[in-house]
Amino acid sequence: MKLKNKITAVLISMMCFACQASAYDIAVFVDGTRVNFDTAPVIINNRTMVPMRAIFESLGAQVEWDQQSETVFGTLGDTNISITIGSSEMVKNGEPVTLDSPPVIIDDRTLVPVRAISESFGCTVNWDEATQTVHIISNTSEYFIPELIPEYSGSAYVTVNGNEPYFDEMSNVSFENYSELDYLGRCGPAYACLSIDTMPTEERGNIGMIKPSGWVTAKYDFVDGKYLYNRCHLIGFQLSAENANEKNLITGTRYMNTEGMLQFENMTADYIEDTGNHVMYRVTPDFRDSELVARGVLMEAESVEDGGIGLSYNVYCYNVQPGIVINYADGSSYAYDKQTDNNIERTYILNVRSKKFHYPDCSGVSNMSEKNKQEYTGSREELIEMGYSPCGICSP
Ligand SMILES: [Zn+2]
Repeated sequence: MKLKNKITAVLISMMCFACQASAYDIAVFVDGTRVNFDTAPVIINNRTMVPMRAIFESLGAQVEWDQQSETVFGTLGDTNISITIGSSEMVKNGEPVTLDSPPVIIDDRTLVPVRAISESFGCTVNWDEATQTVHIISNTSEYFIPELIPEYSGSAYVTVNGNEPYFDEMSNVSFENYSELDYLGRCGPAYACLSIDTMPTEERGNIGMIKPSGWVTAKYDFVDGKYLYNRCHLIGFQLSAENANEKNLITGTRYMNTEGMLQFENMTADYIEDTGNHVMYRVTPDFRDSELVARGVLMEAESVEDGGIGLSYNVYCYNVQPGIVINYADGSSYAYDKQTDNNIERTYILNVRSKKFHYPDCSGVSNMSEKNKQEYTGSREELIEMGYSPCGICSP
């Protein structure tokens, strides 16, 4: 150890003795299971520092320690990180990442910043100040990067990764796998190899007793079916025969259900029924930070026996409802005040027969017969004066 580092380590160690003595015990949970440490976590520079080996292993990462360079090497999936005692630079897949609090040695144990390490491996980290608890959610998958999803801009879904699913393995044996609920009661990815075997043979039963995370009953007159939220199956009942499985139900908007997910579920069910083939299938809810309502779902499917020729997609469906502003933290909502938008000019599609007006990418437009369809550029107010009313699906 270099002398400077040694002094730093000793100083930090003394400082930490003080904070350790005054602080509560800091608990760390990975997917709801408490991690046992032989040295208590401490807070340095507002960062929780935890023993290296225990945290890496709890996250499922391989860990190696190089005594000579005092460097920790961790590997999980495609991610490699290295961090060095006393250095505020971590290296992730060859790229430097700045640490607020470098690794230290306390009582012969190497302590590392838990958030930086966990986030490097794609986990979500939540700090609960009141109980001095760190919650790490590891089921934020490595394949799905929420930051790459564009903001909702009028289309119920977007394709992701060039419409190529992220599966690394194909199976021709049916299975269904549902993630355990996390400490906030939220679903994780639902992953399956679907076939005729997994499809229902009985009618769908009642699911009203399940209260998914963020569940609130909210009614709006302009929403199709009135209710803003539906209990939304990650893997649809028609594919999985999973009825009231709480690990497969999230709080989803009517719009996400009917305009986003349903067409992909129908396409998948039709393919299986027509061919008798298997389909790799995964639906990943996009929960951000500690929000209780998902921002959307990633849906991936790939047919097995024909190598994806018959069926292959990778789409993100937005958990939004046109005309409504949703607070994803708790599921509360309110109707967006259209009056402020009344005079803004934009392009609408009119149905000259039904006298409804739509946003151009509404599914109602694609179903409209050409002779009733008319493009119009102008304001809402003008349309309403002309006797048109807003569509109930796209709520323009
Ligand atoms: Zn519409």
